[in-house]
Amino acid sequence: NVLLQIKNVSKIYNGDIVALTDMNLDVKEGEFISFVGPSGCGKSTIFKIIAGLSEPTTGSVELTNQTSKQEELDRTEIGFVFQHATLLPWKSVLDNITLPLELKGVSKKKRYIQGREVLEMVGLKGYEKALPRQLSGGMQMRVSIARALVAKPKLLLMDEPFGALDEITRQNLHYELLKIWEKTNMTVLFITHNVFESVFLSTKIAVMSARPGRISHTFDVPEYERNE
Ligand code: ADP
Ligand code: ADP
Repeated sequence: NVLLQIKNVSKIYNGDIVALTDMNLDVKEGEFISFVGPSGCGKSTIFKIIAGLSEPTTGSVELTNQTSKQEELDRTEIGFVFQHATLLPWKSVLDNITLPLELKGVSKKKRYIQGREVLEMVGLKGYEKALPRQLSGGMQMRVSIARALVAKPKLLLMDEPFGALDEITRQNLHYELLKIWEKTNMTVLFITHNVFESVFLSTKIAVMSARPGRISHTFDVPEYERNE
């Protein structure tokens, strides 16, 4: 079941900065793919294009809606986690998490029910009313993850989500993320500079190179290497 097709995507910024050249990839439903490669090879760029935050210069990204085969997957079915937790400082944890539902027009009662569910999933039950600055970096990152999950996305894009965290917090979040991924049929695309992290988490690794900006090779991670 192909969820996402990246077809001959090139991206040139300002007419001369070549970020991606003729990139291709098929992503199947339920895969966990890590993108590794040097700074500037276009990892963030392809994520922004997939999320609909940026247009490819040439080529296309097609998202297939598995439930109604003909239709494109709606961009609201994509969750995004950035490198730094980007929370609204004046809003409580629960209001931050449920923001995507608020934007969809879901009633307060409904969004708080769903918000509490994901809050528990990321191990932050009891912190509903806290403000972001009262939480540690790792906890703030969990709030960001909860916010990305609250609308039950089919596709989760994570751009170096754990880069700024200490080793123990990162390991805990690895386990939590895998638990959530195993429980849902979510597809995850993950950017990291950490090869160990990519092997631990993913079913497939896509190695990107900067010249030209595209995938140079992909390999499947054997089951026995994962979660080690
Ligand atoms: P990575 O995420 O792998 O570090 P990026 O996708 O951020 O790579 O960047 C790829 C190339 O495109 C880099 O040379 C970067 O400087 C350039 N670039 C990224 N975003 C922009 C932008 N908004 N405007 C101009 N150049 C950009
Ligand atoms: P990353 O962590 O992906 O490497 P960067 O630090 O390169 O991100 O870039 C941070 C932001 O600045 C991104 O939104 C990127 O698109 C933008 N950006 C990167 N390079 C350039 C550039 N040369 N000109 C304009 N914007 C850029």
